[in-house]
Amino acid sequence: MIDLKQLEVWFVTGSQHLYGPAALQQVAANSRKVAATLDASGAIPTRVVFKSVLTRPEEVAALCQEADTAPRCVGLITWCHTFSPSKMWINGLKRLRQPMLHLHTQFNRDIPWASIDMDFMNLNQAAHGDREHGFIMSRLRLNRKVVVGHWQDAGVQQQIGAWCRAAAAWHDWHGAAFCRLGDNMRHVAVTEGDKVAAHIQFGYSVNGYGVGDLVQHVRHVTDAQVDALVRDYEARYTLAAPLRKTGPRRDALREAARIEAGLRSFLGTGGFKGFTDTFEDLHGLAQLPGIAVQRLMADGYGFGAEGDWKTAALVRAMKVMGSGLKGGTSFMEDYTYHLHPKTSQVLGAHMLEICPTIAKGRPALEVHPLGIGGKADPVRLVFDTPPGPGLNASLMDMGNRFRMLVNEVDVVAPEKPLPKLPVARALWKPKPDLKTAAAAWILAGGAHHTGFSQAVTTEMLEDFAEIAGIELLVIDPQTRLREFKQQLRANEVYYGLRHGFVN
Ligand code: MN
Repeated sequence: MIDLKQLEVWFVTGSQHLYGPAALQQVAANSRKVAATLDASGAIPTRVVFKSVLTRPEEVAALCQEADTAPRCVGLITWCHTFSPSKMWINGLKRLRQPMLHLHTQFNRDIPWASIDMDFMNLNQAAHGDREHGFIMSRLRLNRKVVVGHWQDAGVQQQIGAWCRAAAAWHDWHGAAFCRLGDNMRHVAVTEGDKVAAHIQFGYSVNGYGVGDLVQHVRHVTDAQVDALVRDYEARYTLAAPLRKTGPRRDALREAARIEAGLRSFLGTGGFKGFTDTFEDLHGLAQLPGIAVQRLMADGYGFGAEGDWKTAALVRAMKVMGSGLKGGTSFMEDYTYHLHPKTSQVLGAHMLEICPTIAKGRPALEVHPLGIGGKADPVRLVFDTPPGPGLNASLMDMGNRFRMLVNEVDVVAPEKPLPKLPVARALWKPKPDLKTAAAAWILAGGAHHTGFSQAVTTEMLEDFAEIAGIELLVIDPQTRLREFKQQLRANEVYYGLRHGFVN
């Protein structure tokens, strides 16, 4: 469902005719080598395609226009190996809508102390050429990522790779459709938001469907389809005794498979990249979709419970960003605390819908009562999450802007088994500590729903927020509450002046 190698970032070099055709030929050859090295780098998930050395305003304008309409192009990497008078770039950049990365590099890593002459200087003068290039982008108020260092450096390639992932997710959002089955969980505020504003800012549409539209698809599922899914469940998961072939709850398992097949058919027919549902509107469905949602997320669909379309879209974007990396990504909710003074932790889970890409080992497939919603007992995958670094991200509509909030965490193993907890879960220590992190999260108006990931990094989300032009607040090991509150106030003024204040 997600294949980043189908996508391209275009590499273009800025130059001019001052140094003669031989210098330009050498620059083109050098640029090809830089682009080919980035293209072959394991740290960069998309293709990197060298386009041209740009020396005239009309070339820059034409290239920018081409980049905006090329279906596989997700962004531009620019580099000015020499002084490229940047008034030449104004008309091109003014219209460019693609994400940009300014690679501030130099073809030769080292100064050749014994042989350096003016020919070397002419071919290796990004030190000032890229400053001119930077000025015009700042003058035009363009968001971009600036990466500094030699192009063969692993850290430089990592930074470029993170941006490519963000650019790919941004590309993926444009034209994407997210489906809401039913509306919001009644009276909940943070899962609401301006869907028109989101469409304008993010490029995706969110539309509502009646749960009856899904029920039609579930009704058309054949027994053979159910059999095939049940066989797949048996191959991948450890079934609890009541769900096994002769077990008393086998019917519940088959019903869950029927719902999954129907949901797949419904989402496929609509071309959706993600969806929401709500336990308050399940007319015609026997169970709240559990394993169905879990497995659809594992296939790359975004999901938000209780009508949470912002989180569904965010989870999808994080699935794209984390594609091919070690570690999974899931819809998540801060559920309950361990407030022990020495080991303060958060237990994250949901009623059912946690993605098995974050499972440690083979998930168990179980059936238990839900306690709310008044439906039959839903079938769900139950598992723990492996220890290691991770993060939670959420997206809120603040009235005059969207705010992204990120908290870095360390996932830890539970002190003791949780034999009676009937849901998948992750246990983490927020950075810098639970008290600071939770206070900052709450002061920022952070949602209880998040996208949780052990693959996506803060850098990717920062690049994504920059591309999207939205506010980003990060809670990490350096966060101090007093400074965080000042940042909230400063941002209020900045975004207020940009977009207007709200009461
Ligand atoms: Mn919830």
